[in-house]
Amino acid sequence: MMTRRPFLRTTAASALATCLARGQGDTGGRKLGWALVGLGSLSTHQIAPALAKTKHARLAAIVTGTPSKAEDWKKRHQLDDAHIYDYESFDRIADDPEIDVVYIVLPNGMHAEYTIRAAKAGKHVFCEKPMANTAAECREMIAACEDAGKRLGVAYRCQFEPHHREAIRFAREKVFGPVRHLNAAFGFRIGDPNQWRLKKDLAGGGALMDVGVYALQACRYLSGEEPVEIIAQETKTDPKKFKEVDETIVWSMKFPSGITASCQTTYAYGGMNRFEAICDQGRFGMDPAYSYGGLKGWTSREDVPLSFPQIDHFSAEIDAFSKAILDGGEFGPEGEDGLRDLEIVEAIYRSIREGRAVRL
Ligand code: NAD
Repeated sequence: MMTRRPFLRTTAASALATCLARGQGDTGGRKLGWALVGLGSLSTHQIAPALAKTKHARLAAIVTGTPSKAEDWKKRHQLDDAHIYDYESFDRIADDPEIDVVYIVLPNGMHAEYTIRAAKAGKHVFCEKPMANTAAECREMIAACEDAGKRLGVAYRCQFEPHHREAIRFAREKVFGPVRHLNAAFGFRIGDPNQWRLKKDLAGGGALMDVGVYALQACRYLSGEEPVEIIAQETKTDPKKFKEVDETIVWSMKFPSGITASCQTTYAYGGMNRFEAICDQGRFGMDPAYSYGGLKGWTSREDVPLSFPQIDHFSAEIDAFSKAILDGGEFGPEGEDGLRDLEIVEAIYRSIREGRAVRL
């Protein structure tokens, strides 16, 4: 068994900084073959088009339980029958040399099983967020990939987006003085009451697991620290629809340096898609902060803008992970980063259950 590489223990923010410092390595122009598992909304509308634009990756195979989708994807992406799998034949990817990386785009509750099966088949794994339903599952996924000697990346696309990267630089280099407080929030009004996102076994939780993790991640990479204390409150306006999962949560976090954070997430209403950093000599933030496009940064100083062209977040993270595999370099959000989020999410749920602050 491989020993856990020490860099995996670094925070997302410091891993990202190291990654940036490395610059572009020589990958010899090779493109890694990616297999997509789960051909739902994200795979269809974001990931497949993004893969077509990458420098270091290409769509090599699909895994789906729906034969009509397989036919459609085969035609649209010029895939032959040898590279079409379903959930039963999935483990045969071990014998498919065209597949280097397996991208898990299934409901959260299925991430652990398919990550572990992909690692056992000898493939690198890229897993959608949140990494799994529980921290315990995340640990099993990390161990499976370590045992197989394979990389495990988590799809935290904002870490590859230029506004977020510049905001991290502002914080790290104290461009507005030291950060004192962070506000971060992400929510939307969820529709169909029968979807998997409202079922505990498939989603792990509600708004917090789905979109609250973006606000949580932002606080972690902007502070460059891990929270030491959390206090949270939950409210439900529709207990029937949100019988199994959380609807609206507000929580605050204390970081070791004294930075504090206040965060919100909801499935009940829109209009929350932002972060703000309050520093000794000014403020900066983004609103919207976490959408696929149309992001807007702002600062309190005209001479220090936070403005960049929009990019395809999915192409950026897929290329970054492929390059990290090809040249052995670091990739910011690896399994340990996803695990840390789940540990904090569990502390938030515990604080709600027990009605008290939880120390980490
Ligand atoms: P979706 O419902 O559109 O697709 C899920 C896919 O899983 C479908 O193809 C479905 O057929 C398949 N599936 C297999 N077994 C299933 C089961 N038992 N129940 C339900 N579906 C089953 O979901 P999505 O929006 O594509 O989300 C997939 C993953 O991607 C989730 O983990 C989600 O959190 C993540 N996601 C990430 C982003 C991002 O910005 N990174 C955005 C949206 C979704």
